[in-house]
Amino acid sequence: MEEYAVISDIHGNLEALDAVLADISAKDSEAGIKRKLLCLGDVVGYGPNPNECIAAVKNKKHVLECVAGNHDWAVLGLTGITYFSEYARQVIRWTGEVLSDANRAVLETFPLVKLMEKEGLFLVHGSPYEPQKWHYLLYFSDAEINFENFKGWICLIGHSHLPFVMERSPSGGLTASKTGTELTTGCRYIINPGSVGQPRDGDPRASYLLLNGSRAEIVRVQYDFSETQRKMRAAGLPPPFVERLQRGL
Ligand code: ZN
Repeated sequence: MEEYAVISDIHGNLEALDAVLADISAKDSEAGIKRKLLCLGDVVGYGPNPNECIAAVKNKKHVLECVAGNHDWAVLGLTGITYFSEYARQVIRWTGEVLSDANRAVLETFPLVKLMEKEGLFLVHGSPYEPQKWHYLLYFSDAEINFENFKGWICLIGHSHLPFVMERSPSGGLTASKTGTELTTGCRYIINPGSVGQPRDGDPRASYLLLNGSRAEIVRVQYDFSETQRKMRAAGLPPPFVERLQRGL
């Protein structure tokens, strides 16, 4: 397998995205390699820079593959928004208003799922089981049906904004790590890189994943969330979304 960096749930937070891309570049230079980027959706929603974040993702030099998230589809009107909170719906509407036609067209190109057959990687925003229903995949009790519903070695998911690496042994035993693990041939994996633009595990730092054929490692990166918050207030975005960035919840 090649060397990858996996990002998800950018949510229009350009400061966090820039910090993560800079961190990946620095690590690439250090290692003398060029990692390929994979993105697991929700490029927009919540944050103040949807256009700039889509522009960064559509640059193919940056990102190899990107699947659609529920916020991306909500902005396009491709998924119902009744289950979103009133505040989230407000930002979906705001995002739809500020989005350029060119960037809307980019969002429309994101598939719901992507199988990278040669590498054995399956990309989906929510869960491989019924991906269009945006289920949360969080617990061992969610694991079995999802391991049955993807082809390949490793399933990469986003959506919950909670980073983890879940391993299923050939006998069906499950283990999980919040920081990373060595990868074993014969085991299969479901991995969430956490969220770039709106972490929810109590750590406000942006989260992403380094992945190659032998190791999956969650990386955290400090960024200037006060600048993102300033832009959110200026745009009149809902105060709870502004405030949660400093708590990482
Ligand atoms: Zn999200």
